[in-house]
Amino acid sequence: MKNSFLLTLAVFCCMLLGAQQTTTFIHAGHLLDTESGKWMDEVTIRINGNEVSEVSKGYKNIPQDVKYFDLKDQWVLPGLTDMHVHMETEYNPQAYISKFVDDPADVAFNAVGYAETTLMTGFTTVRDLGGSGINISLRDAINKGKVPGPRIFTSGKSIASTGGHADPTNGGNQAFMGDPGPREGVANGTDEAREAVRHRYKNGADCIKITATGGVLSVAKNGSNPQFTLEEIKAITSTASDYGMHVAAHAHGDEGMRRAVEGGVKTIEHGTYMSDETMDLMKKMNCYLVPTITAGKEVALKAEVDGFYPEIVVPKARAVGPQIQGTFARAYKRGVPIVFGTDAGVYAHGKNAMEFYYMVEAGMPAIEAIQSATITPAKILDLEDKMGQVKKGFYADIISVDENPVKNVKALESVNFVMKDGVVYKN
Ligand SMILES: [Zn+2]
Repeated sequence: MKNSFLLTLAVFCCMLLGAQQTTTFIHAGHLLDTESGKWMDEVTIRINGNEVSEVSKGYKNIPQDVKYFDLKDQWVLPGLTDMHVHMETEYNPQAYISKFVDDPADVAFNAVGYAETTLMTGFTTVRDLGGSGINISLRDAINKGKVPGPRIFTSGKSIASTGGHADPTNGGNQAFMGDPGPREGVANGTDEAREAVRHRYKNGADCIKITATGGVLSVAKNGSNPQFTLEEIKAITSTASDYGMHVAAHAHGDEGMRRAVEGGVKTIEHGTYMSDETMDLMKKMNCYLVPTITAGKEVALKAEVDGFYPEIVVPKARAVGPQIQGTFARAYKRGVPIVFGTDAGVYAHGKNAMEFYYMVEAGMPAIEAIQSATITPAKILDLEDKMGQVKKGFYADIISVDENPVKNVKALESVNFVMKDGVVYKN
């Protein structure tokens, strides 16, 4: 009696869940299999809820009472992933005083807009590498469907050493500087390094970002000096690993970069002055380069605009910016693992897809650039069987463009159709 009641209840619950799941059909003229790099022509995609439930050859009949999208004249591919964005910020000449005048609510409202812009340009997933922690709340709000945006994996606040690239009080006057510690993302020594990681975990971060060397846009003299010891980096990566988090390291200078790779970080951001030896070490350690060529071009350009950056930033932007694409070209040729990332926020959000052209221009075939923004990030985010492909059981993250992007990669700069988790945001 009791068992049959439970069975009836279970069936009823399944029916309820089933009733809530929308079924959507897409007829796709061309669908990219990101694994093989080949196009399939005339395909029917069935989506149930937030997952792809079937991909079949030919244009199947569409049942009544389902949603349908006709993409027969489109080139369809999985949603793109940008592994380096900053959802909280967008640089402009006022950016440097914003931390003294903007309240967290102001930052949050801006971030909501940047998130929507990013999603509408075909990026259905991003890794946010550093902000104040508002990026964590933004992730949650998007996941709950409160605001539109990409699926976010975030590091929360970046971890720096005192005066380092991500010390939040750099450039302030004495009253503002204070002495931030592990809770604020500033750590010195292995104990504080571990503590800083645990604070990020406590705050809900998905991964850890460290600033292994100086950076261009911080109000500090040197853009490439090493800013952590090898021991500190190892304390960070081993603690992060305890909590199931990988570590991303911002790095321009080679010494700090080498320590980060040797210390076990998963990705090197920018990689500007990377030596051949460090490239070989990255191959050995299976550490990925995140190129951020778009950001390099942007800072070089804006360094020539009077007053855009503070004086101390200008020479760094002039020196580092133009190097990045060349380093990417060398790294690609040498066989360093590459994953797509742009540093959106250093330039205007929504232009992330420009990076594809810069990668191709530097010698990477378009299909590999697309794979670096689909199947490769899925691997790093431990979502190999959920993301980066349009395939049964994968998230229904689907975009389309007018032209074959493998022939003209700039086609990815004008995305016509955006579905994330089975919901259509742009058509
Ligand atoms: Zn960045």
